[in-house]
This record gives sequence, structure tokens and C-alpha cells, in this order.
Amino acid sequence: MLHTDSLYIDGAWVAPALGGTLPCVDPATEAVFAQVAAATAADVDAAARAARRAFDEGPWPRLAGAARAAVLRSIADGIRGRQAELAALEVRDNGKPLPEAMWDIGDAAGCFDYYAGLAEAFDAQQEQPIALPDGRFTSLARREPVGVVGAIVPWNYPLLMAAWKVAPALAAGCTVVLKPSELTPLTALQLAAIAAEAGLPAGVLNVLPGLGSEAGQALVDHPLVDKLAFTGSGPVGSRIMAGAARDLKRVSLELGGKSPFIVFDDADLDQAVEWILFGIFWNQGQVCSATSRVLVQQGLYGRLLDRLVAAARRIPIGQGMAPGVLLGPLVSQAQHQKVLAAIEAARQAGATVACGGQRPAAHPLGWFIEPTVLTEVPLDSAAWREEIFGPVVCVRPFADEAEALRLANDSRFGLAAAVMTRDEARGERVARGLRAGVVWINCSQPTFTEAPWGGYKHSGIGRELGPWGFDNYLETKQVTRYTSDQPWGWYLPTVGG
Ligand code: NAD
Repeated sequence: MLHTDSLYIDGAWVAPALGGTLPCVDPATEAVFAQVAAATAADVDAAARAARRAFDEGPWPRLAGAARAAVLRSIADGIRGRQAELAALEVRDNGKPLPEAMWDIGDAAGCFDYYAGLAEAFDAQQEQPIALPDGRFTSLARREPVGVVGAIVPWNYPLLMAAWKVAPALAAGCTVVLKPSELTPLTALQLAAIAAEAGLPAGVLNVLPGLGSEAGQALVDHPLVDKLAFTGSGPVGSRIMAGAARDLKRVSLELGGKSPFIVFDDADLDQAVEWILFGIFWNQGQVCSATSRVLVQQGLYGRLLDRLVAAARRIPIGQGMAPGVLLGPLVSQAQHQKVLAAIEAARQAGATVACGGQRPAAHPLGWFIEPTVLTEVPLDSAAWREEIFGPVVCVRPFADEAEALRLANDSRFGLAAAVMTRDEARGERVARGLRAGVVWINCSQPTFTEAPWGGYKHSGIGRELGPWGFDNYLETKQVTRYTSDQPWGWYLPTVGG
């Protein structure tokens, strides 16, 4: 059952107030295959009120952590039970190859399971006694849900990015208004249906597809929302932070990157090529942590480049459901144009296109771009400095460790970084020197729900995943008790009355 004609608000499927719709376009065929209800400010208002009521008066925040965990586990089971169906929707909406989509959906289910575990452990851990220097008092710190969460997510991992926010928020006892990307709303709507079947009370999760400028902005501006959790581009993140500042909403931001991958000349050539490919062509390079700047030590540079170009040319391109495909189309026409324009700008700036750089001849339809390797990319060019968010990697030689670190850190971004070397001490040294929130040694991209995720510098504020992601949705309350039988004796003296 695919819900497309309604929004999910307060436990019910409702028509959008203004009756608007958004087209769902298959990136592989450019054909519109569905229309999805589009929320505007009036719908966001209804959803925020429902979430507020569910938080202030409903059972969800008051349940024991173990009871919330049971619902989260049912949601995980519901996702897993429909893994193939959800993955096929993701392929249709986003374009990604099916094995990647299957992986994403499995990870989304795993994320609900993981936060179910934290919810279960929460009650036992949550009242931490605080040692005070004054024996007349006892004190403890209690963690409480932050309230109504506005979650705004992008199109590159539609269900997974929603899970990264919804699962910890629900585990903490928050209520949520989720706005998926207008480009990929289908699996978020399915999540609402799965959550309802799992017994999540009305109003606890509301799902509203809609345009960023309409539904998204209305959520940012809504006075009943306590916290905004956003994943997306830097410029929008900056707007969201400015909007949140007006009424001091809590905010966590997961933004873009231009992540470096340093390959030393003692690295295994095949392994290096494999991880470079995975670091930039997985999900068509539409990955916030994509290692899009590859720095290769001089001694290995020529051989590695030849091997990389040959391997990139062999990547099977096609519609995401076709067997064996490892590179699908980009998500949208706008993204296709943006990436082609970035490649052209790199050429104009003096870069060499070692392979790819255009629409594959075999795919006149659909938003496909060949795996692209750029060399001789000027350090001051946009191709080197700005996120392209497509299957485009810049490769550049370096002389020594100091130069590699300097080039790697010379970026306003700091989401992720990778280093490949057989020298453990050097790997560790470089990992310490990299200014990034995620560092991979001898790999690139593997991401685990248990480990913190987020960026330094312009790549974001706060951390998702692991216990850090749980903290995003909690306030800390101090409860201090006066335990002495003696009067306080400040205004009402006890001696000599
Ligand atoms: P985007 O910023 O254009 O949109 C993200 C979401 O914000 C969408 O739901 C959109 O509708 C909404 N939005 C747009 N304008 C808004 C506004 N004024 N107010 C409120 N909401 C608004 O980003 P995108 O193109 O969907 O995603 C790509 C970007 O996301 C890339 O920069 C990528 O690096 C980043 N990203 C980061 C991470 C991470 O974990 N750091 C993960 C995935 C994607």
C-alpha cells in the first residue's frame, strides 16, 4: 500500500490544506510515475500542534524506555519485513542501484533496533547522582526529551537519513515532524505507515513531504518546535540556524563536505583503487562524506591513476534495478546539470578530464554521468574546493606527509577524511592531524550506527549516531534536594529570634 495522496498528521492520512502535489520522477527514465501530496505552512502548523499535544499530554514521553523500545523494535521489524519493497521505492525515487538501496533499508532498520537498545538502557542510567561539597544537599542529573523535533532530510539516503533522526528522537521520548526531500518522499511516507502499524501513538511521528521553501521553512519558523535536526546543504543549513536563532530552537546540522583521501606510496595498489572507487562512485558520488579529493604520494601516482581510470571506465552503468549495475543516474535533472557544469568549469579552470566527464553514450535518457576522474585541478578552483555531489573525483600528487596533511586540511569543510598506508604509526599520526569529524584508515565510507557522525568546520554542528545522536534529543535537568532538618536561617534567624 503506497500512500501518495495524503500527509500523515496526528495519526491520520489527510489531504494537504491547499491540495498541492509534487511529481515523483524516475531519474533513470525521466518519467513522472506518481504525484505526492505537498504540504504547506497550514499543514506544518497542524502537524506541529499535533506533535506538541502528543508531547505535552500524550503517553509517549512518559512511557518507560523499555516500552518505547518495544515500539521501535516493531518499526525495525516492519522496515525489515518490507525491505525489498522499500528498496525498490528508493531506486525509483532516487536512482541508486538496488544492492545499495537494500543496504540502506537494512541500515535504517538497524538504526531503530540500536536506539531501541539505548531507550531500554536509558531508565536505569538516567538519574546520575552528583557529589556536592555541602552535605545538606543531594543532587542528581536527569535526562529528559527535548520536545517537538522538526527533522528535515535530503534525498541521497531518503529513509536512512530519516531513520538517523527519527529513531533517536523517538527513543528519547520526543515527538517528530519529518519533512523528507521533495525529490524522494516515498519511503518516509511508508515509514509513517510502518510506525502506525507498530503502535506508535497518534501525533508522535508526522510525515509531511513538501518543498523546502514552503513546508521546510514553515517547520523552521514554527514556534511550537523545540529542536531542528537537519541534513542537507550548507547554505540551507545556515538559513536554518539563523531561523532557529530567532526563538532559540536547539539545532543540529549535518552538512556537506569535500573530503580528502590520502594514499601513501606503501599502500596496496588494488586496495587503494577499490576504496577510492567506493569513496566517490557509491551512490553516484551523492554522499556528504564522499572522498572527492584524492591525494596520492608521488611514487605511486602514475600507476594508481592508470589503474583508477581503467577501473572507473569498467563500472557498469544503468537503471538501478538492472542486475550488475553499480552506477545509476543522478537524482534529478537539476543535479545532472549542476554536475556537468562543475566538470565544464573544472576544464575551463585548467583541469584535465582523465576519464568520463559526460553523459554515457549508451544512456541518452535518464540523468546519467560517467564516472569522472579529474587531474591537474587547480587548488583555487571550485572543482577542488566545492562539493560537486556527483561521480567526480579530483586526483593530485603529493611529496610527503606534511604536504598531504596541509592539502587535506586546506578546506572549509571537515566532515570526513581517509588515509591509506601500511605504516600503522603513520596512519595514526595522520588520523590525528586531519581536521574532520570522521577519519577512515585503510578504507573510505563504511558507517556504523554505533559510531559518532558529523563534521568539523562548515560540515556541521553536533553529532548523529551512537549515544551522541541520542544526546541530540535530550535536555539535562538538575534536581537538587535540601535534606537537612535545620532551617536555612538566612532571613529568619534561628538563634535569638
Ligand atoms: P538541500 O539543503 O537542498 O535540502 C535538504 C532538505 O532541506 C530538503 O528536505 C529540502 O526540501 C529542505 N530545505 C530546502 N530549503 C529549505 C528551507 N529554506 N527551509 C527548510 N528546509 C529547506 O540539500 P539536498 O540537495 O537535499 O542534499 C544534498 C546536500 O546534503 C549535500 O550538500 C550533502 O553534502 C548534504 N548531506 C549531508 C549529510 C551529512 O550527514 N553531513 C548527509 C547527506 C547529505
